[in-house]
Amino acid sequence: MIPEQVPNHVDGKDVPAASGEWLDKFSPADGSLLCRAARSTSADVDAAVAAARAAQPAWAEQTVVARGDMCREIALALRDRRDELTELVAAETGKPPDAARGETDAAIEMGFFMAGEGRRYYGRTTTASMPHRQVLTVRQPLGVAGLLISFNTPLPNVAWKVFPAILCGNTCVLKPSEHTPASAHALATICCKAGLPDGVLNVVQGLGPEAGAALVENPGVDLVSFTGSAATGRWINETAGRRLAKVCMELGGKNALVVCDDANLDMAVKWALASAFSNAGQRCASASRIVVFDTVYDAFRDRFLAGAADYDPGPVISEDAVERLVAAGARRLDRPGYWVEPTVLEGVAADADVSCAELFGPVTILYRVSGFDEALALVNDSPYGLTAAIHTASVHRAMRFAEQAQAGVVVVNGGTHGSEPHMGFGGVKQSGTGWREAGVEALDVYSDWKYVNLISDPAEV
Ligand code: NAD
Repeated sequence: MIPEQVPNHVDGKDVPAASGEWLDKFSPADGSLLCRAARSTSADVDAAVAAARAAQPAWAEQTVVARGDMCREIALALRDRRDELTELVAAETGKPPDAARGETDAAIEMGFFMAGEGRRYYGRTTTASMPHRQVLTVRQPLGVAGLLISFNTPLPNVAWKVFPAILCGNTCVLKPSEHTPASAHALATICCKAGLPDGVLNVVQGLGPEAGAALVENPGVDLVSFTGSAATGRWINETAGRRLAKVCMELGGKNALVVCDDANLDMAVKWALASAFSNAGQRCASASRIVVFDTVYDAFRDRFLAGAADYDPGPVISEDAVERLVAAGARRLDRPGYWVEPTVLEGVAADADVSCAELFGPVTILYRVSGFDEALALVNDSPYGLTAAIHTASVHRAMRFAEQAQAGVVVVNGGTHGSEPHMGFGGVKQSGTGWREAGVEALDVYSDWKYVNLISDPAEV
């Protein structure tokens, strides 16, 4: 079902990389060769950016209602092929089919949500000091959007960027992760068949330092929107920033889940397990730090360790990921593919490397604290600030945590889970650069505001 070769998709056509080279993609579940993806270089990126540039004026000329209708057509076409997409995602990532289906549905919902925005797309009208002057704000496209994404939830990662980008009248060059080439290619093919004009969505496969860097450096790219690690994001931000391109960064997390002494421990254990280990911990929002009040620490720990021992997190994405996690203290499972045991570390100092660095795998750390103030200080003692959760029966504690936790998303009595299509998502500190993706907030990433002044009676002014 996965094609043996996954080509680029440029100007509505499937094309191999100019170099003629291919990259091997292995199955996380059993290590077998799954497919080979085009190994693109700057020549392929240049062609894709040229196609996107050529297609952009006509695309922007369409009404936003028409572009919203196109988002709906794509969402419907994706829904028709939901099972096939689910299989692709499950094969590429090693996720269980239920998780892959949930993600496919989330990507489809983003299409429907953005279709509705085509009928809103609100601006403002405002007052002016001058008589007979009306001032209104309208959104305008940026031009060509360079989209670079992580492998972890491949279809939602594409959908969160492509739907708002095209709704706002931009054309796109997408560089998917080298670990998930096939789902991105399938989505672009479906877009094409659903009627998206050639050149509006181009996909260039390949490695980050080759295809990705060439996209970031291409002067024909007006916006760089990136989801990935802080280390890559820093380089991209510096590089695109030098030519003053607009840059949106959605980066990593070291998310904390706090368990207070008045928490419902069964619920806290359930949410902590899902937060730490679902998607093999390869979630930007995963709970890699679990902060527990001293008086309930032992009771929580016993149940959490028992739950972790029974948890099947699925494989991680690659051999490199296994090696990185083993170096951080995880144990490799003795089976083909890329499997590590759910790992719980204890007695780790708050300033140790594993406490500060994002591990992006099924590894979490338990910390013992005396009470709320120490818990809050520990939560905020991180270079990241994406999500945070607290389990408590106290409204006062919950509200104080919501106010004080340095994070873009706070959850009370739940997991450090992310978002829905209508909710803006993003973080503070090194988790991002202040933008929010999804929700109407995403429109601010993919458009610029224009202030239009209408002077209705110049003679009277
Ligand atoms: P990564 O930074 O290694 O790669 C992300 C993308 O960037 C890939 O497509 C990769 O090929 C590309 N890339 C790598 N080097 C590049 C370079 N020099 N120039 C241009 N592109 C380059 O990250 P990853 O391992 O794919 O994903 C994991 C990271 O993504 C974690 O840090 C995770 O927290 C983060 N993430 C964040 C969010 C969010 O919304 N904040 C969502 C998902 C994942």
